Amino acid sequence: MFDNLSQQLDRAVKNLKGEGRISEINVATTVKEIRKALLNADVNFKVAKEITNDIKEEALGQKVLTAVSPGQLFIKIVSDKLTELMGSTVVPFNPTGNPAVVLISGLQGSGKTTFTGKLGLKMKKAGKQVLLVAGDVYRPAAIDQLETLGEQTGVEVYTERENKNPVEIAQNAIEYAKKNGKSLVIVDTAGRLAVDEQMMKEIEAVKAAVKPSETLFVVDSMTGQDAVNTAKTFNERLDFDGVVLTKLDGDTRGGAALSIRRVVEKPIKFISTGEKLENTLDEFHPDRMAQRILGMGDVVSLVERAQQAYDEEEAKRLNKKLRKNQFDFNDLLSQIQHIKKMGDIKDLIAMVPGMGKMLKDTEIDENAFKPVEAIISSMTPEERTKPEIMSTSRKQRIAKGSGTSIQQVNNLIKQFEEMRKTMKKINRMSGGVPGMKGGK
Ligand code: GDP
Repeated sequence: MFDNLSQQLDRAVKNLKGEGRISEINVATTVKEIRKALLNADVNFKVAKEITNDIKEEALGQKVLTAVSPGQLFIKIVSDKLTELMGSTVVPFNPTGNPAVVLISGLQGSGKTTFTGKLGLKMKKAGKQVLLVAGDVYRPAAIDQLETLGEQTGVEVYTERENKNPVEIAQNAIEYAKKNGKSLVIVDTAGRLAVDEQMMKEIEAVKAAVKPSETLFVVDSMTGQDAVNTAKTFNERLDFDGVVLTKLDGDTRGGAALSIRRVVEKPIKFISTGEKLENTLDEFHPDRMAQRILGMGDVVSLVERAQQAYDEEEAKRLNKKLRKNQFDFNDLLSQIQHIKKMGDIKDLIAMVPGMGKMLKDTEIDENAFKPVEAIISSMTPEERTKPEIMSTSRKQRIAKGSGTSIQQVNNLIKQFEEMRKTMKKINRMSGGVPGMKGGK
């Protein structure tokens, strides 16, 4: 996420790192570099100018520094200013009503339907009885897409394939929700490729009829300043409550994320970071985003992702097996599945402070786990729990079954044995340390 911007900002403040104190000259150079970095990231021109002026003023206003170096102080100032630019505080998504109604708007291709599915899943996990409504009456494929998302997430989808009136569909869906004990109705709407009067009128009518407690505007962050302009137009007509930025996992430059709040004066509420449905939708935290942009990672979000992916019982069970040295291939497979549930690997790596920068030139293969999963899936239950029985003929069979080579199978078994050895050592070491045994 925002790799180029991060690198350029890093370079900009590097000049200051060797300096003993902040002076007018070195601040001017650094600020100029920062402005360039922001403009390259497609940040709105006025916004870039405003924020760099703020940074300059703040930096020059600093008294003689004792505890921190100018470089560190500057990063702190930039981080604070970026946070402020993106809205400072979290504005929670908080739909109210019985049922609560949420209206989703945005252009076609922005990721509206995918977001509707993800939000449905997130809210279902939060204990809501969710109903998704297919309100795109022009594209049957959009209805199919929402239905598929509903099947994948176990969330009910309301459709009226023959009805071409989105206002009626939405109203009927709410009636249906009331009768069927639903607490949250999320209405997906039709999008066009560009802003278009008929589309605007239609969504205005849907809004007036269903009176949503939250109207969200979904925008593709890859489209940079276009995203900001579209948001402005939609907001003038719809007066929406919050923005959803999608596709932040791609090589987005960052302009939309950094400018939208200041230009449109509406909070960003969610960010979407992948095509997967689970754990790729996060509440937007301006401070965490600023830290990520500055290459400082985002450990808080990483821990939250882990908490979402693991349940406590599973963690206890695993801990017990580890302590008894019974960790087997089934456990490895389940671990891989949990890691995958935490989201896109690239996205996770960027959350570890310094890691994104360290691996910036490394190709990270999202499919790296595939052969491992295939190999384990080709093992018999006995082989999975007793890796020591693995003979050459068994390995050959597994390689064939998993479409891998015998060498890959050997490697995995070797790595697995190494893993077990390390765990044994850790167990022995922690055996005498009270408190490290845990997880009874
Ligand atoms: P809609 O026309 O606005 O409903 O857009 P869709 O939900 O159909 O999304 C358009 C495309 O973008 C699809 O291929 C989605 O899989 C993809 N997409 C949606 N959200 C994300 C995201 O956060 N990251 C990535 N990489 N792709 C996304």
